[in-house]
Amino acid sequence: MTPSSTFEIAVLPGDGIGVEVTSAAVEVLDALSAEIGGIRFNWRHYPGGAQAYRDTGVALADETIKALEQADAILFGAMGLPDIRYPDGTEIAPQLDIRVGLDLYAGVRPIRAIAGLPSPLSDSRAAGIDFVLIREQTEGLFFARGRGQVTGDAEARDTMRITRQGSERVFSFALRLAERRKERGRPGRVTCVDKANVFASMAFFRRIFDEQARRFPAVAADHCYIDAMALNLVRHPWSYDVIVTENMFGDILSDLGAGLIGGMGMAPSGDVGDRHALFQPAHGSAPDIAGTGKANPTAMLLSAVMMLEWLAERHGLPACSDAADRLRSAVERPFRQGRVKPFEFGGSSGTAEITRAVVDALRVDARGR
Ligand code: ATP
Repeated sequence: MTPSSTFEIAVLPGDGIGVEVTSAAVEVLDALSAEIGGIRFNWRHYPGGAQAYRDTGVALADETIKALEQADAILFGAMGLPDIRYPDGTEIAPQLDIRVGLDLYAGVRPIRAIAGLPSPLSDSRAAGIDFVLIREQTEGLFFARGRGQVTGDAEARDTMRITRQGSERVFSFALRLAERRKERGRPGRVTCVDKANVFASMAFFRRIFDEQARRFPAVAADHCYIDAMALNLVRHPWSYDVIVTENMFGDILSDLGAGLIGGMGMAPSGDVGDRHALFQPAHGSAPDIAGTGKANPTAMLLSAVMMLEWLAERHGLPACSDAADRLRSAVERPFRQGRVKPFEFGGSSGTAEITRAVVDALRVDARGR
């Protein structure tokens, strides 16, 4: 970052709708910068993903990983296509390598209902859904990726790895987040999701959570088994504040969470470490709708809000925090006013229409000040 608050942002559009929603985010962030001044973005685009692997034999170049380390933040679309795979049958997913390579241990997945959109739940309290799922993402069951053992045609094994260091840091991340949310009027509670009644690794995970939670007396801490959490998130998702869990459980619960607020196109995410952070929608490349213009860019735009919040906190820049607030309200306003309704919700607003509505909302907001 330069003194004039110009951020170097690495952009990895990737595959499928990743390319479409990333272009929407760049357009909106440029419009934000033009409207409010004080913040600028230098975009550095890099290839990568399944199509890149098919074209060049390389999913993500080593130089690109080095460039990501130099960037102020990373904006990522989606990578992977079901019909392009490695010889062992697994999908091309360089995002998983980036998480480990850049040590982005906390997968931050906010699940928040946006006013003006129909809820898949009939209970009116669903309008108050506002929790954050924290997914550990450098170990857990995903540690097995690339290490699975297949014995002939008779047996296959994948191993879950839970370490003290990996668990302590993600728990303290979740507990600190709950502390900050409490200052803003949220309950200040962290629920650890595990399967401690069956697996030694998960009992270890829970024990470390309890140890860490004792260091944060202002935060309420409790536990829930993963199976019960799947039920509870459908029955009363509004009762949760911060949820923390291992990698695989978090992968599954984040799709469930997106479903609670209407679909994958509404769920943003941040992959955050102590030095680097990457922001991407929680959804994948969605090949079923790629190229149709139907992709909802909202998840990506809310991920851009998270990027601004992270940059603001990291560099102590109130202007950047103000930019995040303005962008969030510009993303939410067209929904609140009933101007757009994404295809996911049975409407007919595609990527271009929603992007335009958000840019218009930014301009109206800037003129009103
Ligand atoms: P991955 O394995 O990479 O997470 P996936 O194949 O499980 O990806 P997604 O790409 O996330 O799945 O898509 C799941 C479903 O949600 C698909 O039917 C897709 O069309 C829909 N979907 C995902 N993202 C969006 C979006 N931004 N707008 C509209 N629909 C979406």
